[in-house]
Amino acid sequence: MASADERRDELKGVWRQAQACTRCPQLASTRTTVVFGAGNADADLMFVGEAPGANEDKQGLPFVGQAGRLLDTLLGEIGLSRADVFVANVLKCRPPGNRDPLPAEIESCRDYLSRQLELIAPKVVCTLGNFATKLLRGDQTGITRLHGREEVRELGPRTVRLYPLYHPAAALYTPSMLEILRTDFHRIPELLALPAPEQPRAPEPEPAIVAEPEEIVQIVRAAAREPEAAQLGLF
Ligand code: URA
Repeated sequence: MASADERRDELKGVWRQAQACTRCPQLASTRTTVVFGAGNADADLMFVGEAPGANEDKQGLPFVGQAGRLLDTLLGEIGLSRADVFVANVLKCRPPGNRDPLPAEIESCRDYLSRQLELIAPKVVCTLGNFATKLLRGDQTGITRLHGREEVRELGPRTVRLYPLYHPAAALYTPSMLEILRTDFHRIPELLALPAPEQPRAPEPEPAIVAEPEEIVQIVRAAAREPEAAQLGLF
């Protein structure tokens, strides 16, 4: 895999591309900022929420409103801070009036999230709520059934521990849900301590073309006739 510096540089390229994105005409015309995501680009733990809200849209950062404060509290309870993790969303732009993301918007935006997952290469990915859970698991099973159950999943070229959690915004107003979110959240250190899941095998390199001795003689003779081509590495 590429070095952390190379992956960070590539991530910056994806950030630049997202800043100019107009794939969703409505979101592109109503947003104030593109909320790419923020945190440690080399994190072992990544959170994926739904979409920016009004505060996030203003500041250009994910989870900076009330739900974000709850996320910070829960992170603090397990000895972590935003600097230790990377936080992103399914959509990088705010849906007007905080409506649900549309299927076409999720589809248009999924490439950015896939690239983030590939380049940050976390060990554990916590999906927050239904939208992120359904997208990354690729099926319609809801968060009520899945929360707190970790599973090893291939996400693009990486294998991760996927850990669905209730969305903090939903837990804000439902004390019983908050307690479940807190209990699930407190298992994150245990998941981080597990060995990273085995990665899919990289494709075998193409076998080297080994010239037969007679061919080598001919190549050397040709190089002797065309010394410039040989210098250019064509032989
Ligand atoms: N809710 C989300 O899903 N994401 C944010 O960034 C903020 C609130």
